[in-house]
Amino acid sequence: MRMKAGLQFAVCALAATLACCQSLGAQTLSVQWEELTAQDFGKAIQKSGGVCLLPFGILEKHGPQLPLGTDLINSRYAALHGATEEFAVVFPEYYFGQIFEARHEPGTVAYPAPLQLQLLQATTDEMARNGCKKILIVNGHGGNNSLLPYFAQSQLASPHDYVVYVMLHPERAQGRPAQKTTIDMHAGESETSHTLVSRPDLVHMDRAKDESGADLQRLDLPSDVYTGIWWYARFPNHYAGDGAPANKALGQFDMDAWSHEVAGAIRAIKADNKTLQLQNEFAGKATHPLDTPQ
Ligand SMILES: [Zn+2]
Repeated sequence: MRMKAGLQFAVCALAATLACCQSLGAQTLSVQWEELTAQDFGKAIQKSGGVCLLPFGILEKHGPQLPLGTDLINSRYAALHGATEEFAVVFPEYYFGQIFEARHEPGTVAYPAPLQLQLLQATTDEMARNGCKKILIVNGHGGNNSLLPYFAQSQLASPHDYVVYVMLHPERAQGRPAQKTTIDMHAGESETSHTLVSRPDLVHMDRAKDESGADLQRLDLPSDVYTGIWWYARFPNHYAGDGAPANKALGQFDMDAWSHEVAGAIRAIKADNKTLQLQNEFAGKATHPLDTPQ
């Protein structure tokens, strides 16, 4: 059937208006804090049960082939996909963590240690003031693995009306495709594969072998003796592994697993009322320890 052009336009315009209004009516709330209006923010907090995510990245060299923001990009990918699966509000870009060991490389931003803790505390305090009573830090950067549990422990120094949960990088899930490399600690096969999924346009596969990511093992100390220079001693190029065998299948497997892991954590945290209860009980006792039964 043929219609006159004018009539056809009017019918199409009407159909477009209907489609638009229908989609507006059914419009879902964004999981991203910065995309919500003030009014919708309140609805989002209610819908989330007060569960908010703080994906935590860093700015540091990632071998010769990956962008400086790799950890930020990948932790946000997992957090945003996890929150889409199980609703939570996701805080904007955050990259103010521990990265002193890469200060010799271009583009690294290493904030002073006291400022890292102060800024993180101010951030979670502000999140909580806005209704995020259960905050899950989704860590994307291995250099934060001491900082974040310490931050969580330091919450016990004073009473809080909210809980900080920390999710370090999850274990490798079962059924994972086989890897070609054994050293794979930073910007190697796994992380390059992950970025082939999150931001393939930023991965320079042709440069992956421009530098060595070999372990130089330049210190000879017992394994239980720690020194801050250990990483530089082993991997002076801030590259630990080989990104060349990276592939999308491995990346997709890991990023899906990580995203589901985040969604599972959100579900568990929504159901958890015990942590705050115990935290409050502890805070009360801590004000008068002599009364704690012995
Ligand atoms: Zn990384």
